[in-house]
Amino acid sequence: MNATTDRLVAPKRAEEDAAELALRPQTLDDFIGQKQVRENLKIFIAAAKARGEALDHVLFHGPPGLGKTTLAQIVAREMGAGFRATSGPVIQKAGDLAAQLTNLQPHDVLFIDEIHRLNPAIEEVLYPAMEDFQLDLMIGEGPAARSVRIELPPFTLVGATTRSGLMTRPLRERFGIPLRMVFYEPAELETIVQRAARVLKMSMSKDGGAEIAKRSRGTPRVANRLLRRVRDFASVAGHAVVNAAVADDALVRLEVDGRGLDAMDRRYLGCIAENYGGGPVGAETLAAALSEQRDVIEDVIEPYLMQLGLLMRTPRGRLLSEGGYRHLGLAVPKDQKQQLDLLATGSSAEEA
Ligand code: ADP
Repeated sequence: MNATTDRLVAPKRAEEDAAELALRPQTLDDFIGQKQVRENLKIFIAAAKARGEALDHVLFHGPPGLGKTTLAQIVAREMGAGFRATSGPVIQKAGDLAAQLTNLQPHDVLFIDEIHRLNPAIEEVLYPAMEDFQLDLMIGEGPAARSVRIELPPFTLVGATTRSGLMTRPLRERFGIPLRMVFYEPAELETIVQRAARVLKMSMSKDGGAEIAKRSRGTPRVANRLLRRVRDFASVAGHAVVNAAVADDALVRLEVDGRGLDAMDRRYLGCIAENYGGGPVGAETLAAALSEQRDVIEDVIEPYLMQLGLLMRTPRGRLLSEGGYRHLGLAVPKDQKQQLDLLATGSSAEEA
């Protein structure tokens, strides 16, 4: 069993998240947060519609659970077009992709999640499709093989990736509208939690919503999930209204601490502090020590810890910050303090 799939704060999708469907905002105006992304999309959508063209290809990048899929659906709806979804690892053969592309109607959105995991051979099929709305396919094998060209309707490819750095450059450059998703502010998450509580017909006080928001890792998917778990605790304990005390009680039982870190986050920080003297330590080593997949560590665990300033990525590996030690209730060892002070003066700190 993979520990991460069971994490309550894991921003990746889980089965029960079918319930999320009802919580998804339907229009750009309903969508809370990501102000810059929203404003840009609004302008580009209005311009494309005014010209009667398909929207240029859009690439969303950022950690899981921040609303990339939701926005892709909103883009289709705002364009008045159809929406089809697939994902990088699901597309096994060029033919699978060709089938998706040839089924599109003009201006439709084809959403490819985890596009950085697309097989490079298949990627090549995408290039002419994205650029000229053409598909070049090889039919048959050996000397009898021949290439056919199929015209595609103008469409919009919306890609989502947690790691745009892993995408090949030619693919990245074919997206006219690259948009970066950022973690949500507590006030934005509070609005999201309150809205979700209304949809779920839950009675929740303002401070109850704020408590859940503050502990949601800056991620709407986590906020919605914590909300549902808090609701379970509250209903079993017979609390009619979820206030801050009820939420706190439930979140403590769920081992989600005051800043939204769960047992896995603390195990990760503790491993660097205790096994590797605070770092620097490489991602591969940490993945092995924690029996966790490297991409889960890099895509899910680390971005939020860095956002909180508990962790630094340096060219030599991961380094626990003073804040990281403090969060664990540990003192910074002397030699480590020197190293951190040096980095703080800006000599070699840089995102790996
Ligand atoms: P991603 O594709 O980035 O992993 P999703 O689009 O699947 O994320 O969003 C995860 C869940 O979070 C959705 O089901 C939706 O309910 C919720 N969500 C995401 N962004 C927002 C938002 N801005 N406002 C309200 N709910 C949101």
